[in-house]
Amino acid sequence: MRSKKSVPAILAALLLLLTACKAKEPEPYQTQFMAMDTIMTLTLYGGDAQSAAALGVQRVQELEALLSVTAEGSEIHRVNCAGGQPVELSEDTRKLLEDALALCAATDGALDVTMYPVVRAWGFTTGEYRVPDSAELSALLGHVDYTSVSLEGSALTLPAGMELDLGAVAKGYAGEQLMELFAGAGVTSAIVELGGNVQALGAKPDGSPWRVAVQSPDGGGYAGVLEITDKAVVTSGGYQRCFEQDGETYWHIMDPATGCPARSGAVSVTIVTDRGVEADGLSTALFVMGRERAAAYWKEHPEFDFILIGEDGSVTVTQGLETSFSLLGSWAGSPLEIIRR
Ligand code: AMP
Ligand code: MG
Repeated sequence: MRSKKSVPAILAALLLLLTACKAKEPEPYQTQFMAMDTIMTLTLYGGDAQSAAALGVQRVQELEALLSVTAEGSEIHRVNCAGGQPVELSEDTRKLLEDALALCAATDGALDVTMYPVVRAWGFTTGEYRVPDSAELSALLGHVDYTSVSLEGSALTLPAGMELDLGAVAKGYAGEQLMELFAGAGVTSAIVELGGNVQALGAKPDGSPWRVAVQSPDGGGYAGVLEITDKAVVTSGGYQRCFEQDGETYWHIMDPATGCPARSGAVSVTIVTDRGVEADGLSTALFVMGRERAAAYWKEHPEFDFILIGEDGSVTVTQGLETSFSLLGSWAGSPLEIIRR
Protein backbone atom coordinates (compact mmCIF):
# COMPACT_ATOMS: atom_id res chain seq x y z
CA MET A 1 0.00 0.00 0.00
CA ARG A 2 1.21 3.49 -0.88
CA SER A 3 1.85 5.81 2.06
CA LYS A 4 -0.04 9.07 1.98
CA LYS A 5 1.93 12.26 2.58
CA SER A 6 0.56 15.80 2.57
CA VAL A 7 1.30 17.96 -0.49
CA PRO A 8 3.26 20.57 1.56
CA ALA A 9 5.42 17.79 3.04
CA ILE A 10 6.20 16.42 -0.44
CA LEU A 11 6.99 19.91 -1.72
CA ALA A 12 9.26 20.59 1.24
CA ALA A 13 11.10 17.27 0.65
CA LEU A 14 11.48 18.09 -3.05
CA LEU A 15 12.81 21.55 -2.26
CA LEU A 16 15.30 20.07 0.18
CA LEU A 17 16.44 17.57 -2.46
CA LEU A 18 16.83 20.30 -5.06
CA THR A 19 18.83 22.56 -2.74
CA ALA A 20 20.97 19.62 -1.66
CA CYS A 21 21.70 18.80 -5.34
CA LYS A 22 22.38 22.43 -6.12
CA ALA A 23 24.76 22.84 -3.20
CA LYS A 24 26.79 19.86 -4.40
CA GLU A 25 27.18 21.00 -8.01
CA PRO A 26 30.47 22.87 -8.38
CA GLU A 27 30.50 26.08 -10.38
CA PRO A 28 32.42 25.92 -13.65
CA TYR A 29 34.95 28.52 -14.70
CA GLN A 30 34.38 29.50 -18.32
CA THR A 31 36.30 31.67 -20.74
CA GLN A 32 35.83 32.50 -24.41
CA PHE A 33 38.33 33.90 -26.92
CA MET A 34 39.19 34.01 -30.63
CA ALA A 35 42.10 31.97 -31.95
CA MET A 36 42.93 29.86 -35.01
CA ASP A 37 40.17 31.63 -36.95
CA THR A 38 37.40 30.51 -34.64
CA ILE A 39 35.68 31.13 -31.30
CA MET A 40 37.04 28.97 -28.51
CA THR A 41 35.28 28.20 -25.22
CA LEU A 42 37.00 26.55 -22.25
CA THR A 43 34.90 25.23 -19.36
CA LEU A 44 36.72 23.87 -16.31
CA TYR A 45 35.84 22.41 -12.89
CA GLY A 46 38.09 21.72 -9.92
CA GLY A 47 41.68 22.70 -9.06
CA ASP A 48 42.50 26.32 -9.72
CA ALA A 49 40.26 26.43 -12.78
CA GLN A 50 40.77 30.14 -13.43
CA SER A 51 44.58 29.98 -13.55
CA ALA A 52 44.47 26.76 -15.57
CA ALA A 53 42.13 28.45 -18.07
CA ALA A 54 44.47 31.45 -18.36
CA LEU A 55 47.40 29.11 -19.03
CA GLY A 56 45.21 27.31 -21.57
CA VAL A 57 44.46 30.53 -23.48
CA GLN A 58 48.17 31.36 -23.49
CA ARG A 59 49.05 27.87 -24.74
CA VAL A 60 46.56 28.06 -27.64
CA GLN A 61 47.90 31.49 -28.62
CA GLU A 62 51.43 30.13 -28.53
CA LEU A 63 50.42 27.25 -30.82
CA GLU A 64 48.61 29.62 -33.18
CA ALA A 65 51.74 31.76 -33.44
CA LEU A 66 53.72 28.65 -34.46
CA LEU A 67 51.21 26.91 -36.70
CA SER A 68 49.34 29.67 -38.55
CA VAL A 69 49.86 29.30 -42.27
CA THR A 70 48.93 32.91 -43.01
CA ALA A 71 50.64 34.87 -40.20
CA GLU A 72 54.03 36.17 -41.28
CA GLY A 73 56.56 35.17 -38.65
CA SER A 74 54.88 31.86 -37.79
CA GLU A 75 57.04 28.78 -37.94
CA ILE A 76 54.94 27.34 -40.76
CA HIS A 77 55.28 30.59 -42.71
CA ARG A 78 59.04 30.38 -42.27
CA VAL A 79 59.01 26.78 -43.49
CA ASN A 80 56.97 27.81 -46.54
CA CYS A 81 59.44 30.55 -47.44
CA ALA A 82 62.56 28.41 -47.00
CA GLY A 83 62.98 27.69 -50.73
CA GLY A 84 64.06 24.07 -50.30
CA GLN A 85 66.45 24.71 -47.39
CA PRO A 86 66.12 22.72 -44.13
CA VAL A 87 64.38 24.42 -41.18
CA GLU A 88 64.81 23.44 -37.51
CA LEU A 89 61.36 22.89 -35.99
CA SER A 90 60.12 23.55 -32.48
CA GLU A 91 59.11 20.47 -30.51
CA ASP A 92 55.37 21.25 -30.93
CA THR A 93 55.55 21.56 -34.70
CA ARG A 94 57.80 18.52 -35.02
CA LYS A 95 55.48 16.30 -32.94
CA LEU A 96 52.36 17.50 -34.75
CA LEU A 97 53.92 17.15 -38.20
CA GLU A 98 55.15 13.64 -37.39
CA ASP A 99 51.62 12.58 -36.35
CA ALA A 100 50.05 14.36 -39.32
CA LEU A 101 52.41 12.67 -41.81
CA ALA A 102 51.55 9.29 -40.27
CA LEU A 103 47.85 10.06 -40.83
CA CYS A 104 48.52 11.17 -44.43
CA ALA A 105 50.19 7.80 -45.06
CA ALA A 106 47.53 5.77 -43.20
CA THR A 107 44.72 7.46 -45.17
CA ASP A 108 46.59 6.96 -48.44
CA GLY A 109 46.81 10.69 -49.04
CA ALA A 110 43.15 11.58 -48.41
CA LEU A 111 44.76 13.85 -45.83
CA ASP A 112 47.67 15.71 -47.38
CA VAL A 113 49.47 18.41 -45.39
CA THR A 114 50.81 19.97 -48.61
CA MET A 115 47.38 21.00 -50.00
CA TYR A 116 47.95 24.68 -49.22
CA PRO A 117 48.63 25.99 -52.77
CA VAL A 118 45.31 24.47 -53.87
CA VAL A 119 43.37 25.74 -50.83
CA ARG A 120 44.77 29.24 -51.49
CA ALA A 121 43.88 29.13 -55.21
CA TRP A 122 40.21 28.59 -54.27
CA GLY A 123 40.40 31.65 -51.99
CA PHE A 124 39.79 29.83 -48.72
CA THR A 125 42.72 31.53 -47.01
CA THR A 126 41.55 35.08 -47.77
CA GLY A 127 37.79 34.80 -48.38
CA GLU A 128 38.29 36.04 -51.97
CA TYR A 129 36.69 32.96 -53.44
CA ARG A 130 37.12 31.80 -57.04
CA VAL A 131 36.92 28.61 -59.09
CA PRO A 132 40.35 27.87 -60.62
CA ASP A 133 40.36 26.23 -64.06
CA SER A 134 41.68 22.70 -64.57
CA ALA A 135 45.02 23.82 -66.05
CA GLU A 136 45.73 25.92 -62.97
CA LEU A 137 44.70 23.08 -60.67
CA SER A 138 46.86 20.47 -62.37
CA ALA A 139 49.87 22.82 -62.21
CA LEU A 140 49.23 23.36 -58.49
CA LEU A 141 48.75 19.65 -57.84
CA GLY A 142 52.33 19.22 -59.07
CA HIS A 143 53.33 20.82 -55.75
CA VAL A 144 51.10 18.59 -53.61
CA ASP A 145 52.72 15.43 -52.27
CA TYR A 146 53.13 14.72 -48.57
CA THR A 147 55.63 11.93 -49.38
CA SER A 148 58.15 14.60 -50.47
CA VAL A 149 58.17 16.16 -47.00
CA SER A 150 61.40 15.13 -45.30
CA LEU A 151 61.49 15.20 -41.50
CA GLU A 152 64.76 14.04 -39.99
CA GLY A 153 64.85 14.57 -36.25
CA SER A 154 63.64 18.13 -35.99
CA ALA A 155 64.98 19.21 -39.41
CA LEU A 156 62.26 19.70 -42.01
CA THR A 157 63.01 20.02 -45.69
CA LEU A 158 60.27 20.84 -48.19
CA PRO A 159 61.01 20.86 -51.91
CA ALA A 160 60.98 24.44 -53.25
CA GLY A 161 57.47 25.43 -54.37
CA MET A 162 55.80 23.11 -51.88
CA GLU A 163 53.93 24.56 -48.87
CA LEU A 164 52.84 23.05 -45.59
CA ASP A 165 49.43 23.61 -43.95
CA LEU A 166 48.60 21.95 -40.63
CA GLY A 167 45.13 23.56 -40.58
CA ALA A 168 43.41 20.17 -40.73
CA VAL A 169 45.06 19.02 -37.47
CA ALA A 170 46.13 22.14 -35.51
CA LYS A 171 42.94 22.52 -33.44
CA GLY A 172 43.09 18.81 -32.61
CA TYR A 173 46.60 19.29 -31.26
CA ALA A 174 45.50 22.36 -29.30
CA GLY A 175 42.67 20.31 -27.72
CA GLU A 176 45.07 17.55 -26.78
CA GLN A 177 47.56 19.99 -25.26
CA LEU A 178 44.80 21.68 -23.24
CA MET A 179 43.75 18.35 -21.72
CA GLU A 180 47.35 17.66 -20.68
CA LEU A 181 47.77 21.12 -19.20
CA PHE A 182 44.46 21.01 -17.30
CA ALA A 183 45.09 17.53 -15.87
CA GLY A 184 48.55 18.70 -14.70
CA ALA A 185 46.93 21.70 -12.96
CA GLY A 186 44.61 19.48 -10.89
CA VAL A 187 41.49 20.20 -12.96
CA THR A 188 39.21 17.19 -12.65
CA SER A 189 36.73 17.83 -15.44
CA ALA A 190 36.80 20.15 -18.40
CA ILE A 191 35.38 20.52 -21.87
CA VAL A 192 36.78 22.73 -24.62
CA GLU A 193 35.12 23.80 -27.85
CA LEU A 194 37.56 24.97 -30.47
CA GLY A 195 35.28 25.67 -33.43
CA GLY A 196 34.07 22.27 -34.67
CA ASN A 197 36.47 20.51 -32.28
CA VAL A 198 35.34 19.40 -28.83
CA GLN A 199 37.57 17.65 -26.32
CA ALA A 200 36.70 16.57 -22.80
CA LEU A 201 38.77 15.77 -19.73
CA GLY A 202 37.05 13.17 -17.57
CA ALA A 203 33.31 13.21 -17.05
CA LYS A 204 31.03 15.98 -15.76
CA PRO A 205 31.62 16.80 -12.07
CA ASP A 206 28.64 14.60 -11.08
CA GLY A 207 30.22 11.65 -12.89
CA SER A 208 27.76 11.62 -15.80
CA PRO A 209 29.05 11.83 -19.40
CA TRP A 210 29.27 15.10 -21.31
CA ARG A 211 26.59 15.59 -23.95
CA VAL A 212 28.03 16.91 -27.19
CA ALA A 213 25.73 18.02 -30.00
CA VAL A 214 26.51 17.22 -33.62
CA GLN A 215 25.48 20.10 -35.86
CA SER A 216 22.96 19.60 -38.59
CA PRO A 217 24.78 20.03 -41.92
CA ASP A 218 21.80 21.86 -43.44
CA GLY A 219 22.24 25.03 -41.39
CA GLY A 220 20.78 25.66 -37.96
CA GLY A 221 20.03 23.09 -35.28
CA TYR A 222 21.47 19.74 -34.36
CA ALA A 223 21.43 16.38 -36.08
CA GLY A 224 22.21 14.40 -32.96
CA VAL A 225 23.79 14.19 -29.56
CA LEU A 226 26.67 12.08 -28.28
CA GLU A 227 27.54 11.10 -24.73
CA ILE A 228 31.28 11.03 -24.09
CA THR A 229 33.87 10.87 -21.32
CA ASP A 230 37.55 11.69 -21.86
CA LYS A 231 37.28 11.90 -25.67
CA ALA A 232 37.84 14.23 -28.58
CA VAL A 233 34.86 14.80 -30.89
CA VAL A 234 35.78 16.54 -34.12
CA THR A 235 33.49 17.40 -37.02
CA SER A 236 34.49 18.36 -40.54
CA GLY A 237 31.51 19.74 -42.41
CA GLY A 238 31.10 21.21 -45.86
CA TYR A 239 28.79 23.81 -44.29
CA GLN A 240 31.59 25.15 -42.03
CA ARG A 241 33.31 27.17 -44.76
CA CYS A 242 31.91 27.38 -48.26
CA PHE A 243 30.82 29.67 -51.09
CA GLU A 244 28.35 29.48 -53.93
CA GLN A 245 28.95 30.24 -57.57
CA ASP A 246 26.53 29.60 -60.46
CA GLY A 247 24.30 27.50 -58.22
CA GLU A 248 27.16 25.25 -57.13
CA THR A 249 28.45 25.04 -53.53
CA TYR A 250 32.22 24.77 -53.02
CA TRP A 251 33.67 23.92 -49.62
CA HIS A 252 37.05 24.04 -47.92
CA ILE A 253 37.76 20.32 -47.69
CA MET A 254 39.74 19.40 -50.79
CA ASP A 255 40.28 16.09 -52.49
CA PRO A 256 44.04 15.83 -53.09
CA ALA A 257 43.30 13.58 -56.07
CA THR A 258 41.42 16.32 -57.97
CA GLY A 259 42.35 19.65 -56.35
CA CYS A 260 38.62 20.35 -56.02
CA PRO A 261 36.28 20.35 -53.02
CA ALA A 262 35.76 16.71 -52.02
CA ARG A 263 32.54 15.27 -53.49
CA SER A 264 32.38 11.92 -51.81
CA GLY A 265 28.71 12.01 -50.88
CA ALA A 266 29.58 13.04 -47.30
CA VAL A 267 28.42 16.43 -45.99
CA SER A 268 29.65 15.98 -42.43
CA VAL A 269 31.99 13.58 -40.67
CA THR A 270 32.43 13.42 -36.90
CA ILE A 271 35.25 11.40 -35.34
CA VAL A 272 35.27 10.24 -31.72
CA THR A 273 38.55 9.04 -30.26
CA ASP A 274 41.02 9.60 -27.41
CA ARG A 275 43.47 11.78 -29.30
CA GLY A 276 42.61 15.22 -30.68
CA VAL A 277 45.11 15.12 -33.56
CA GLU A 278 43.81 11.80 -34.79
CA ALA A 279 40.19 12.96 -34.47
CA ASP A 280 40.95 16.13 -36.43
CA GLY A 281 43.03 14.54 -39.18
CA LEU A 282 40.58 11.69 -39.67
CA SER A 283 37.52 13.97 -39.82
CA THR A 284 39.08 15.70 -42.84
CA ALA A 285 40.35 12.46 -44.40
CA LEU A 286 37.11 10.49 -44.02
CA PHE A 287 35.16 13.42 -45.48
CA VAL A 288 37.38 13.07 -48.56
CA MET A 289 36.93 9.28 -48.61
CA GLY A 290 33.13 9.09 -48.35
CA ARG A 291 31.08 6.36 -46.73
CA GLU A 292 32.41 3.17 -48.34
CA ARG A 293 36.10 4.00 -48.05
CA ALA A 294 35.56 5.40 -44.54
CA ALA A 295 33.90 2.16 -43.43
CA ALA A 296 36.73 0.09 -44.92
CA TYR A 297 39.31 2.31 -43.20
CA TRP A 298 37.52 1.95 -39.87
CA LYS A 299 37.47 -1.84 -40.14
CA GLU A 300 41.27 -1.79 -40.46
CA HIS A 301 41.84 0.87 -37.78
CA PRO A 302 39.58 -0.01 -34.86
CA GLU A 303 40.77 2.70 -32.45
CA PHE A 304 38.13 5.32 -33.30
CA ASP A 305 34.46 5.74 -34.17
CA PHE A 306 32.69 7.96 -36.66
CA ILE A 307 29.35 9.47 -37.62
CA LEU A 308 29.00 10.26 -41.32
CA ILE A 309 26.06 12.25 -42.68
CA GLY A 310 25.51 11.84 -46.41
CA GLU A 311 24.08 14.38 -48.84
CA ASP A 312 21.13 12.00 -49.24
CA GLY A 313 20.31 12.56 -45.54
CA SER A 314 21.52 9.11 -44.47
CA VAL A 315 23.46 8.73 -41.23
CA THR A 316 26.17 6.09 -40.78
CA VAL A 317 27.53 5.33 -37.32
CA THR A 318 30.19 2.84 -36.23
CA GLN A 319 29.39 0.19 -33.68
CA GLY A 320 31.15 1.87 -30.74
CA LEU A 321 28.63 4.73 -30.79
CA GLU A 322 25.53 2.57 -31.01
CA THR A 323 24.35 3.38 -27.51
CA SER A 324 25.97 6.78 -27.00
CA PHE A 325 24.67 8.58 -30.11
CA SER A 326 21.07 9.55 -30.80
CA LEU A 327 19.49 11.54 -33.60
CA LEU A 328 17.57 14.67 -32.65
CA GLY A 329 14.54 16.62 -33.84
CA SER A 330 13.77 16.35 -37.56
CA TRP A 331 16.73 13.95 -37.96
CA ALA A 332 15.15 11.40 -35.62
CA GLY A 333 13.46 9.59 -38.51
CA SER A 334 16.52 9.51 -40.81
CA PRO A 335 17.85 6.17 -42.04
CA LEU A 336 20.59 5.15 -39.59
CA GLU A 337 23.09 2.48 -40.55
CA ILE A 338 25.33 0.91 -37.90
CA ILE A 339 28.62 -0.42 -39.26
CA ARG A 340 29.96 -3.44 -37.43
CA ARG A 341 33.24 -5.28 -37.58
P1 AMP B 1 39.12 20.58 -41.13
O1 AMP B 1 38.26 21.76 -40.92
O2 AMP B 1 39.80 20.06 -39.93
O3 AMP B 1 38.45 19.50 -41.91
O4 AMP B 1 40.35 21.07 -42.01
C1 AMP B 1 40.13 21.70 -43.23
C2 AMP B 1 41.29 22.61 -43.51
O5 AMP B 1 42.44 21.83 -43.83
C3 AMP B 1 41.02 23.48 -44.73
O6 AMP B 1 40.57 24.74 -44.35
C4 AMP B 1 42.36 23.52 -45.43
O7 AMP B 1 43.17 24.53 -44.87
C5 AMP B 1 42.99 22.19 -45.10
N1 AMP B 1 42.62 21.09 -46.02
C6 AMP B 1 41.60 20.99 -46.90
N2 AMP B 1 41.58 19.81 -47.50
C7 AMP B 1 42.62 19.10 -46.98
C8 AMP B 1 43.14 17.80 -47.18
N3 AMP B 1 42.58 16.94 -48.02
N4 AMP B 1 44.22 17.44 -46.46
C9 AMP B 1 44.80 18.28 -45.57
N5 AMP B 1 44.38 19.52 -45.35
C10 AMP B 1 43.28 19.93 -46.03
MG1 MG C 1 40.34 18.10 -39.41
